[in-house]
Amino acid sequence: MSRGEASSEDVLSLQEFFSKLDGIDSFVAVEEGFPIAYHGLSGEEADAMAALAVDIYTASSTTLGDILGREKAGKEIIIVLEDGRVIDVAKVREIILAARGARKPAEESIQAATLYLENKRVLCPYCKRDLTLETYKCGKCGKTFPYRSNTCPHCGTPALVKKCPGCGKPTTGDGRRVELVKPPEAKSLAVLEGIVGAAIAGIVALLATGNPIVVGAAGIAGGAGLAYATYKSVRPEYRVID
Ligand SMILES: [Zn+2]
Ligand SMILES: [Zn+2]
Repeated sequence: MSRGEASSEDVLSLQEFFSKLDGIDSFVAVEEGFPIAYHGLSGEEADAMAALAVDIYTASSTTLGDILGREKAGKEIIIVLEDGRVIDVAKVREIILAARGARKPAEESIQAATLYLENKRVLCPYCKRDLTLETYKCGKCGKTFPYRSNTCPHCGTPALVKKCPGCGKPTTGDGRRVELVKPPEAKSLAVLEGIVGAAIAGIVALLATGNPIVVGAAGIAGGAGLAYATYKSVRPEYRVID
């Protein structure tokens, strides 16, 4: 199925990636004018979209190249259609990629596919799984988008931290490690609540028994208990390590 630039593994990975994503109507990867991978299209439609992608890329890069100079012409072209959806076309090595769909999902997916074909892979820092073409389901809107996106391209919900599908450990979209930490105010809040707890428990014990040893013990127990409960109740935050 594949000649030259893209291996059959690349072709399969790209097809699988685009088939999992929401917001993408169709996708094609073109090499030497022929569709080598496609999704959401019949064979005939894939031929037509491949030809269109080549036309868009060639025409735009020539025109932009004349205006901006070849170096600045860029390698990603976005055509906005009447209904607000887009055709996003990019060239990687000798392969032209095109995705049609909602704007942000199309952009994010073409960028992930570009990194993949450029061999700029995102690896899990723990299990080394290749995350470049992994996908992630948004916790808010339930739609699927590329793992490497830091924001859901469908609803805009931040998604900096995700769990690696290989080992389940939290990482960022670009493969950095993340740890759970309590925000700094958790400690001072716990100390404050501890003092309040100690005072209340001490007063209660004083009124009940009048025994200084019991008052002291109750104060320590009350203070420690409330301080611990307060510290536990403060939600941890994610911190990017490296
Ligand atoms: Zn979402
Ligand atoms: Zn992992």
